[in-house]
Amino acid sequence: MILPEVRGQILRHEPLGPFTWFQVGGPAEALFLPKDEADLAGFLRALDPAIPVTLLGVGSNTLVRDGGVDGVVIRLGRAFGDVTPAGENRIAAGAATLDATLAREAARAGIAGLEFYRGVPGAIGGALVMNAGCYGSETKDVLVEAYALTRAGERITLSNAEMEYSYRKSGRAAAEPLIFLGGLFEGQPDDPAAIEARMSAITERREQSQPIREKTGGSTFKNPEGHSAWKLVDGAGWRGKPFGGAMFSPLHSNFLINTGSATAADLEGLGETVRAEVTAQFGVQLEWEIKRIGKPVA
Ligand SMILES: Cc1cc2nc3c(=O)[nH]c(=O)nc-3n(C[C@H](O)[C@H](O)[C@H](O)COP(=O)(O)OP(=O)(O)OC[C@H]3O[C@@H](n4cnc5c(N)ncnc54)[C@H](O)[C@@H]3O)c2cc1C
Repeated sequence: MILPEVRGQILRHEPLGPFTWFQVGGPAEALFLPKDEADLAGFLRALDPAIPVTLLGVGSNTLVRDGGVDGVVIRLGRAFGDVTPAGENRIAAGAATLDATLAREAARAGIAGLEFYRGVPGAIGGALVMNAGCYGSETKDVLVEAYALTRAGERITLSNAEMEYSYRKSGRAAAEPLIFLGGLFEGQPDDPAAIEARMSAITERREQSQPIREKTGGSTFKNPEGHSAWKLVDGAGWRGKPFGGAMFSPLHSNFLINTGSATAADLEGLGETVRAEVTAQFGVQLEWEIKRIGKPVA
């Protein structure tokens, strides 16, 4: 695969497991770590349009299959991680900013409404794509506009409406390969100490109810209309039951975990087994929330 010259780094056959929370999966044919936005845009403009491009944030919602990912995987680093106040009750964050960092900086600036990001362990690029949220708030509620590069390297701005948000999904991001650079967010004025207190409550609630120190990908399945995914997994008898090195967490039965020696095939295989059993037993289709990328081992 011939790739354009860049100022950042291109790593060939780089294992992707260490870049994800699950810590499993094969290599990227090429992993591109752009130096800055101009480097990324130049690369995309010059890249053969036939070469597939896959984005990886901090991998807290992604399972990389064991055979790895063909084409180029792009991961944004520090140059894409600025957080800056942007006028009254507004704050801008680059795609590589951790959600928790945006929550903290918004609190410091006295901007309320973004504290839910303290509970999401991803980065802003992933939050924009996934409409990340928790405890009744989501990205759709706080995003003014998002900034992205198209696959051809053109910079575009998308309004909140243009992101076509629904539950854990951006219709726009699903329809077109976009590389998000960041977003502009808006909240309401409040006392920083009061915002901090609400963030601490979120952290505490998380620690008690989710296996946040495990190798996991967060919620495995979306909640089907009128159902809770965790109850269906539980009802099918899969809470805490091993499947190779994979298991649905005893603490939260919608969290798939790598108990130490899982392959991506174990994790995906368990998920598919549970989906089939839930359909057979309850007549409900579970849809993956976790993004699965790449190919199985040949
Ligand atoms: C313990 C735990 C708890 C979690 N709790 C929650 C929760 O409460 N609420 C919630 O919503 N999620 C939760 N998640 C899931 C996850 O944190 C979110 O989906 C998060 O937004 C993913 O961000 P990421 O950077 O890890 O994205 P990744 O997993 O790296 O990628 C997710 C998707 O976004 C795309 N993407 C990432 N960056 C970019 C970019 N710059 N441009 C274009 N596409 C991009 C990827 O291609 C992929 O399709 C949890 C995960 C874990 C492990």
